[in-house]
Amino acid sequence: MISKSDYVAYRACRKLAWLRKHHPELAQEDENARSRMETGEKIGELARRLFGESVCVYTQDEQGRPDIRAMVEKTADEMRKGTPVICEAAFLHDGCYCAVDLLCRENGGWAIYEVKSSTEAEQDRYSVDIAYQKYVLESCGVPVTGCYLVCINSQYVLQGELDLQSFFKITDLSEQMEDEYAAIPEEVKTTGAVLQQMDEPDEDLNVNCLNCAYWPYCSRNLPKPNVFDLYQMSMTEKLKRYRQHTISFEELLASGTIKNDKQRRQIDFALSDRGTWIDRKGIQAFLDTLSYPLYFLDFETMQPAIPFCQGTRPYSQIPFQYSLHFIEQEGGPLEHREYLAESGTDPRRALAEALCRDIPMNVCVTAYNKAFECTRLNELAATFPDLAEHLTNISENIRDLLTPFQKGYYYNRAMGGSFSIKSVLPALYPDDPSLDYHQLEGVHNGGEAMSVFPKIKDMPPEEQKIARQNLLRYCELDTYAMVKVWEELVRVSSADEQNSIE
Ligand code: SF4
Repeated sequence: MISKSDYVAYRACRKLAWLRKHHPELAQEDENARSRMETGEKIGELARRLFGESVCVYTQDEQGRPDIRAMVEKTADEMRKGTPVICEAAFLHDGCYCAVDLLCRENGGWAIYEVKSSTEAEQDRYSVDIAYQKYVLESCGVPVTGCYLVCINSQYVLQGELDLQSFFKITDLSEQMEDEYAAIPEEVKTTGAVLQQMDEPDEDLNVNCLNCAYWPYCSRNLPKPNVFDLYQMSMTEKLKRYRQHTISFEELLASGTIKNDKQRRQIDFALSDRGTWIDRKGIQAFLDTLSYPLYFLDFETMQPAIPFCQGTRPYSQIPFQYSLHFIEQEGGPLEHREYLAESGTDPRRALAEALCRDIPMNVCVTAYNKAFECTRLNELAATFPDLAEHLTNISENIRDLLTPFQKGYYYNRAMGGSFSIKSVLPALYPDDPSLDYHQLEGVHNGGEAMSVFPKIKDMPPEEQKIARQNLLRYCELDTYAMVKVWEELVRVSSADEQNSIE
């Protein structure tokens, strides 16, 4: 049987469709896959309310999988009964299967509504998806009167109660998918053949590979490191070089075409272990921009698809937590403050007030990749005019700890060309378990923090306590890591010679 997901995967990459069917165990889903799925389910349920009363025919078998036969029968039954809106309406024809998110009766036929949790900016991606559904329904003899995409209106701003009609954006994709639709009969035949073949299809790498769950598998035979590890190069450019067989770092170097200094250094240090490159003058110039009392700030945020904070849009970044380390004066002790909001509430006001209590005006604050923290602070300032002066002052006094690394003042091969703190920290302190995010319980990265926080409100008290503790420890490590990064910069800046390799 060819499902809609099989067909969509096939149209993206033949090998992807084959691997999903024959070797699902080889996929390495990214850490946010589950959270995206949960968001999709919530948006799907919300979209049902757009059309009033509906009947859902989704049915599971004993193993908890969709019971396709039962769903197909129930769908036919509801259509015969004249049900106006059927959710998960299922159709099967000649081995092709699909379930329509919302099937609505109209003008003597039926309209397909495909619900996505993405915003309208991504709507072009879904022509394949909807065209396939139309093909299956028409093959089953169902007159399809319209094909619509229901996605999130990125411009929607929550004012009062959620207004579903404005929150969702419905787009008629009938014209846009015409070419795709015309190609389906042939493409379906090839999809079936590819899915059934025993041998893995040959498929060249493509622009989607780096975001594909099978990338670790498909790239397993490439030399390491390779052109796809190169910093600051577009995927199109990487693919061009790959197709010219300039793949390994040795080949890239020999080609003489790498002109970017950071890429040259990345290749150079990867090919021979040259220790750590230190530009003391550059580091000192950066450290001269800092002053005591010195603060280290990091936010954790969530991005709810369905906004619940007044004045925010879908997927707005909402800060719910911060960690703050600080040193009052040179040689003084390292102190710590933190804030974690109550899950299930609008966290912004209490967090903004706590920040203004914890960070005085006109002090030097550091962040790692400061654009993120500054943007959150400026958003809070715009939301709470009475705190705006203080919040804007904090934002204006932020220095970016990323700068010395981004400018190339400090580099070693362990950074692998990346300057994110998760790459820089182990490169600076390779053997320090107190800086190892893997040692943390429950929350190891921003994505997990974002996913755990909104769920806390539904946990039993004991689990709530543990989850909050995990969040606090994670965020604290983020700012402690920044302190350690700063300490290392101070340490190397104090040597006599100008530039060196340690
Ligand atoms: S990594 Fe690339 S080639 Fe491999 S399955 Fe995914 S998209 Fe296809």
